Amino acid sequence: MPAKHDINKVGSESSDFPILCETCLGPNPYVRMTKREFGQECKICNRPFTVFRWNPGEGGRFKKTEICTTCAKIKGVCQTCLLDLEYGLPVQVRDAALGRKNQAPSSDINKQYYIQNLEAQMEESGDGQAYDSQVANAAGREMLKNLARTDPHYKRNRPHICSFFLKGDCKRGAECPFRHETPKEGETSKQNISDRYYGTNDPVAKNILKKVAESKGLKAPEDKTITNLLLLGLPTCTEADVRTALNDAVPSIKPNQIRSISIVAANNVAFLNFTDRQSAERAAEGLSAQDGVEVNGKKAKVVWGRARPNKPKAAGTAAPAVSA
Ligand SMILES: [Zn+2]
Ligand SMILES: [Zn+2]
Ligand SMILES: [Zn+2]
Repeated sequence: MPAKHDINKVGSESSDFPILCETCLGPNPYVRMTKREFGQECKICNRPFTVFRWNPGEGGRFKKTEICTTCAKIKGVCQTCLLDLEYGLPVQVRDAALGRKNQAPSSDINKQYYIQNLEAQMEESGDGQAYDSQVANAAGREMLKNLARTDPHYKRNRPHICSFFLKGDCKRGAECPFRHETPKEGETSKQNISDRYYGTNDPVAKNILKKVAESKGLKAPEDKTITNLLLLGLPTCTEADVRTALNDAVPSIKPNQIRSISIVAANNVAFLNFTDRQSAERAAEGLSAQDGVEVNGKKAKVVWGRARPNKPKAAGTAAPAVSA
């Protein structure tokens, strides 16, 4: 049998049982599944895989696996809903809390390479897990435990909302297999599966992270010109120390997205100035999920900066003239 990570192998995957979260599986552990070998291409790696289909319980819609078991193992997610198996949360939330880097490969070739690489790692480690669960981030883990949805949430298995009903013209009436209701706020109907998988631009995750940030006093200020954060209670440190700490905590922020860092040693404070608002928000969300940032072994608190006070116009500066 060829090794799974044989680079020349035309990838495909056959499996005996899907990797599913409790919710997707449904309340009956003896649920009957139909199995189609190489029934479909994995929505992440595009390789044909064994597709399972089942009814998760009364009133539920039929569910099927969307990604292959390899891709599911790589991220530690359910093959159907793509939520993290341990916490029942989007990958983006988990990775923000654990300060884990998530890079979506940009092209299909990179994608294949990425998957094959991780597949090889999994075989070498022997436990079938590439997904590094040993990240030592106690605060992040604590936050995840608090947010975790470990009880099955069977409402998620309900039929989708009827799109004709939403447009006001479903002719199927009571026979319609879809739900005739107006979506609740925050209920995202269609979501890009690869965004959810790689943990980038996931609207559900974004909402959760926003709430976490708010609960930690890091509500993004209304004034969008504010693009700076403050670190309070810093130990003696250099700018390089702060940069390293930030990179470890929020690896998705690139070094060039931090315009400048100024440390006021006398007050144990650092000003982090970001190049744009989005980066500042992302940093705030990541750092709030981890309850601050550890610099040289000491945890610093994070708060939003303020708008620059309007400087009184110095005489002689050429402000555009407005005729009264
Ligand atoms: Zn796959
Ligand atoms: Zn699931
Ligand atoms: Zn309908």
